[in-house]
Amino acid sequence: MEYRLGYKKQVCKKIMTNYNKKLSLERCKKYRKRILEISKNVSALHFGGSFSCTEIMEVIYNYFLKSKIEKDCFILSKGHSSIIQYVILEEKGILKKKQLDMYCKKGGFLGVHPDRGNPGINASTGSLGHGLGMVAGEAIAERSSKNVIYSVLSDGELQEGSTWEAAILIGAMKIKNIVIVIDNNNLQSLEETSKSHPNLYPIKKKFQNFGWSSVDCNGHNSEEIYKKIKYRDKSKPLALIAKTIKGYPVSYMMNEPIWHYRSPDKKDYIKAMKEIEEK
Ligand SMILES: [Mg+2]
Repeated sequence: MEYRLGYKKQVCKKIMTNYNKKLSLERCKKYRKRILEISKNVSALHFGGSFSCTEIMEVIYNYFLKSKIEKDCFILSKGHSSIIQYVILEEKGILKKKQLDMYCKKGGFLGVHPDRGNPGINASTGSLGHGLGMVAGEAIAERSSKNVIYSVLSDGELQEGSTWEAAILIGAMKIKNIVIVIDNNNLQSLEETSKSHPNLYPIKKKFQNFGWSSVDCNGHNSEEIYKKIKYRDKSKPLALIAKTIKGYPVSYMMNEPIWHYRSPDKKDYIKAMKEIEEK
């Protein structure tokens, strides 16, 4: 019995050493600062939705998509937040700095939305509601392998009927190699999602009714996101409902619809850099 307990302890220790809080925090700072830097080159950027899913993206890419094959198993359904995916792909060496410096510029190939065929991009998204259908197809194709398909969706995207068609299909076909995270920031481009579509809530219950495992989490706590994915019920697809704040952690961006798509002036830029650094 003692041996078994000792063994368990060793295993748990090994699993938890995979997660590194300090590194995760540093990476999130780095990603957000790089997005700010890129914003100096363009008239506007999708700050709000990219900052709200930074911790989610950091966890998926750094703890779950480790090999080259696994990196192909990700679909950013909320394609308007492509800039956070681009900065991570740059950090991984999949995109080059000079390519990202040309973001949304004449002669560059990286646009506002991800395009399949660009380095590290597995699906063209941006027309909201299409991601989960593609996830279903990819997951069916990968059923015989051990590959899990990961995706990040927006909460506004849950208004699209196609999202629910895919959710019902995935549940009915018991496609279990799927992990999706809903960036639940309660804002779409112009208003609160809970006001425009109050019957969406509770989101978790809806996925559960369709045969998914679904749990809530704090979408700015990378350790919690990591644990909820790592220790998920692997007999079902997972829908993680991550509570986030649009524009987090920049004070003047948070929960402000205008920061859905905008670039800061010099004063705002300095303030954002300072607040991200101090977080
Ligand atoms: Mg939203």
